Amino acid sequence: MKPHGATVDNLIVDTVNFFSKVDVRGEDDCHPWVAGKTPKGYGHFYINRVAYRAHRLAYYIAYGPYPDHLGVLHLCDNTSCVNPKHLTLGTQAENMKDMSAKGRGANQIPHELAAEIAAKFRAGGFSLRSLGREYGLPHVTITRILNKGY
Ligand SMILES: [Zn+2]
Repeated sequence: MKPHGATVDNLIVDTVNFFSKVDVRGEDDCHPWVAGKTPKGYGHFYINRVAYRAHRLAYYIAYGPYPDHLGVLHLCDNTSCVNPKHLTLGTQAENMKDMSAKGRGANQIPHELAAEIAAKFRAGGFSLRSLGREYGLPHVTITRILNKGY
């Protein structure tokens, strides 16, 4: 039995039921969860009597399974939002989300982090977009980091 709100790997989500609980607005707007929420405002959705965080499911529905050790974070600081465009995977990304949300550029990214991102890109296996998603940054910011010669 998986713990509360844990991995969503291989879950089968009833998307019709799921999206009936979402106020789907414009493509780039927040899509607030309108059903049950945790005290912190995260939506929850039950599958086989297990409660899952709605935003994690939204990310899973949009992008597929993701590594267990990563969390799904809000770029928009709206905990009830389940618009996949406003969600990102995070560890490091958590620290970066404000930066991204406020549209700051590569100059504000800490030196070590920029170097880490550039090293990952050069090691291969990541596209600009997938790296951007991992760090919660627009892919153009990744390009700027690379152009700065890290
Ligand atoms: Zn949002």
